[in-house]
Amino acid sequence: MKYCSLCGSQDLIFKVPSGDSLPRYICGGCETIHYVNPKIIVGAIPTYKDQILLCKRAIEPRKGKWTLPCGYMENGETVEEGAARETLEEANARIVIKNLQSVYSIPYINQVYLVFNSELLDLDFSAGEESLEVELFNEEDIPWSEIAFSAIKFSLETFLQDRKEGNLHITRVGRYALNKKDKF
Ligand code: ZN
Repeated sequence: MKYCSLCGSQDLIFKVPSGDSLPRYICGGCETIHYVNPKIIVGAIPTYKDQILLCKRAIEPRKGKWTLPCGYMENGETVEEGAARETLEEANARIVIKNLQSVYSIPYINQVYLVFNSELLDLDFSAGEESLEVELFNEEDIPWSEIAFSAIKFSLETFLQDRKEGNLHITRVGRYALNKKDKF
């Protein structure tokens, strides 16, 4: 941080505020403590019967790879609204949100994914601006080597396992582990 986003002062010090446990940027001009917290990414597993809707990314990072509809949560919306909005934006698809399927932390880039089970309301979907293609996949046709993000792989794998076992009501909790060999 180079200057205070509230008052514009460049008089910033990085230190532990009293009563806190971690260092923060503190503005010497207006005394604001600037907290920086993880970003929330919301997404959905849109299903139609046994099929799952995936989007091929039209933008970096991981352009050309497949993903579930997901993106940064916006201010002023709920997580469910965010997941439905992303599905509409990326796949022009309307869904009914069900339960929370997974929570996945990526501490090294300060992201948390929240992915919901959902059902497509109809088959009237198409590629949105951030997608090259949008397709329904049977389980056996999922392009596992072409999945864009570790969080999406985790979500799909646990979804399929839980569906097979009749446990879709469960919320799976996972994390990206840097020390574990992970091709993502
Ligand atoms: Zn300031």
